[in-house]
Amino acid sequence: MSLKRALKIVFDRVPDDTIDLFTVFPGLRRFFERRKLHAVLRTIGDLVFAFIILAGLFGPQDPKRNCILYLSWGLWWPTIVLTWFFVGRMWCGFCPFPGAGRLAQSLGLSLNLKVPRFIQKNSPYLSLFLLCLILWIEESTGIKESPRGTALLIMAILSGATITAMLFPKQAWCRYLCPMGRLIGVGSTLSILEFRPDFEKCKTCKTFACKRGVGGRTGCPVYLGAFNIRNNLDCLICGHCLSLCDKDSPRLNLRSPFKELLLNKGRFITCSYIIPFLMGSQLVRFYEDSPFVFSWLRHGNGLETMLIYSGLLVIGFLYVFVIIKLGAIFFGITEDELFGKFSPMVPILVPMAFAGELAYRLDYAVRYAPDFFPTVGRQFHVDFLLNWTFTVPYLTFPIMNIFILASSIAACNYVLYRLAVQEFEGMVPFWRAALVALLVLYTGFSYMTFMIPVA
Ligand code: SF4
Ligand code: SF4
Ligand code: SF4
Repeated sequence: MSLKRALKIVFDRVPDDTIDLFTVFPGLRRFFERRKLHAVLRTIGDLVFAFIILAGLFGPQDPKRNCILYLSWGLWWPTIVLTWFFVGRMWCGFCPFPGAGRLAQSLGLSLNLKVPRFIQKNSPYLSLFLLCLILWIEESTGIKESPRGTALLIMAILSGATITAMLFPKQAWCRYLCPMGRLIGVGSTLSILEFRPDFEKCKTCKTFACKRGVGGRTGCPVYLGAFNIRNNLDCLICGHCLSLCDKDSPRLNLRSPFKELLLNKGRFITCSYIIPFLMGSQLVRFYEDSPFVFSWLRHGNGLETMLIYSGLLVIGFLYVFVIIKLGAIFFGITEDELFGKFSPMVPILVPMAFAGELAYRLDYAVRYAPDFFPTVGRQFHVDFLLNWTFTVPYLTFPIMNIFILASSIAACNYVLYRLAVQEFEGMVPFWRAALVALLVLYTGFSYMTFMIPVA
């Protein structure tokens, strides 16, 4: 595949145009089919996690002497956020969290209960609640300075995944409850990759082995099955169904990152709540680090800070929620004969939500990178590593943030243009689209206000 063709697909104006990467790169298909290779990579991930937990719990508690802080907050998190765009939910195929639960299940330690309807029905709200909790803990408790706190947070998520696996079959945690999975799923709606079946082949399928399993092998770990995939929200891209399907149906497609946003139009309840919460929390997180922050927040005692931070999160959520509602009023169309009610501002703002998270996570990664090797040196008494450091020029931060934010504003306006001019051709007057564009700019400036001075 030529670079020109790949770029054409990524920025193509036709949202349905995709390239099946399994056909272009057969080695990629073999990689997904070879479950042993997956297992090896997962085991490596498990070992890294085990190291992070043990070193966090029992290692030095001085942030300058424990490298797990940078491994967790400076490498792991920013890498996951970057994967949203480049490989969608593929991280979930290698994630170590479900490992202990899978082991328990293979030892017959699961009750295999039916997942309660309450959990299935309220899954977006439950996982959003857990996500709020994690972000709240992350920002209001100083956990990023605490190796033990970081290890305990990871253990809490691990326990959630393990206990769920001991109650229900397969990976109910990943499908219904995982806050990270929910976030990665929403972020992956902007991905240039999608895992999809060939629906023509699935139409004639009699086995549905991708979901039900076959020959003693279990089906999809998240009760989905390739034939059910319509978006990037739930499929883990674990590739498990590839070897179950005898019709060669599943594909890994290169696509335009805007395809799913334009097709879904913010119809999914998950996106409708995650996007305003995520963006609101980002504004609060940038605000908290900015020079504008009230000194009583910075110097308040633990409980005060936690309470104030809770209030700020609510304000941040409402702020973006109002922007989304206002944008829908400006846009003028929120219902369509074909697909019912939708929320135009959600797909328009997804690129900015991604950019905000990326900027926030990269800021930590770049800011603390110079001290990573010296920290490893201090932790393991390796003297020569103490000098392996460098200086990050001051201008790196504002340039990085402005670049990321400006790109996202351009992407938001591109989605707006596609929705207004092509998807609802002639139905959205220019003045309405212009008002939405101004609102996008205003939202971008809200970010800029707190983001840039942080640098
Ligand atoms: S859903 Fe959560 S626990 Fe499951 S694989 Fe993804 S990140 Fe890991
Ligand atoms: S992906 Fe394969 S196994 Fe699943 S429904 Fe389609 S053809 Fe059948
Ligand atoms: S549909 Fe296939 S790739 Fe997606 S989670 Fe299920 S088994 Fe994994």
